[in-house]
Amino acid sequence: MSIADNIQSVQENIAAACAKVNRDPETVTLIGVSKTKPVAMLVEAIHAGVQHLGENRVEEGETKIPTVNAQVETAPTWHMIGHIQSRKAKLVPPLFQVVHSVDTLKLAQKLSKLLEETDDTRDVFLEINISGEDSKYGFNAANWSTDLAVREQLWSDVQTIFGLPGLRVRGLMTMAPIVDDMEQTRPIFADMAALRAELSNEIDIDLPDLSMGMTDDYPVAVEEGATLVRVGRAIFGERVYT
Ligand SMILES: *Cc1c(COP(=O)(O)O)cnc(C)c1O
Repeated sequence: MSIADNIQSVQENIAAACAKVNRDPETVTLIGVSKTKPVAMLVEAIHAGVQHLGENRVEEGETKIPTVNAQVETAPTWHMIGHIQSRKAKLVPPLFQVVHSVDTLKLAQKLSKLLEETDDTRDVFLEINISGEDSKYGFNAANWSTDLAVREQLWSDVQTIFGLPGLRVRGLMTMAPIVDDMEQTRPIFADMAALRAELSNEIDIDLPDLSMGMTDDYPVAVEEGATLVRVGRAIFGERVYT
């Protein structure tokens, strides 16, 4: 299977998931996650119609993004999806148009300050640790619907971030736990959709987007309301880490 074939089959799966729940497939943005993959494959994906690419490491973006942009007619939109170390935050806005991995108030404040200094803005997502796994980055939202302390902290952080200049908060992002059967992720994605609805109602903010769903679970994420899916292996093949 070529990259173009893979993209087509992912698009078909997204359309099928949308059909199940009466959604317009146009409301779902496919982000090709190209981490570890060589520039030639990224260019191939762009030629096959992918307009959004995601990388998870700043250094990798620094080398690949300018190279890819120079080789294509229309540069894709670049999404930063991985954890950002504080000292590398300043490298992010020049490379990426969208940041999915705003995972602490401190990082939000840092990005805001950098953007304000350059009179610039970026679309951002707040990464949510909804399963409460220790291994995961993100704002803690475990048991948010019943745990008042968790809820209060989260509500307060979201409110603060909405007040920061330079950041346009588009919505929430999460990574579901790794499971054997993708159906097991459904309650997680549904919980994210409920959290988004409750946050936007109670704080009276607009949170249009949900960034959730990867190779192993994007059809379920779309059924539960994802507006952006981040798909790597199903497009570019397995990753080899050396
Ligand atoms: C790697 C990665 C993805 C894509 O994972 P696949 O399983 O290859 O689809 C999505 N989101 C984040 C944050 C990632 O790091």
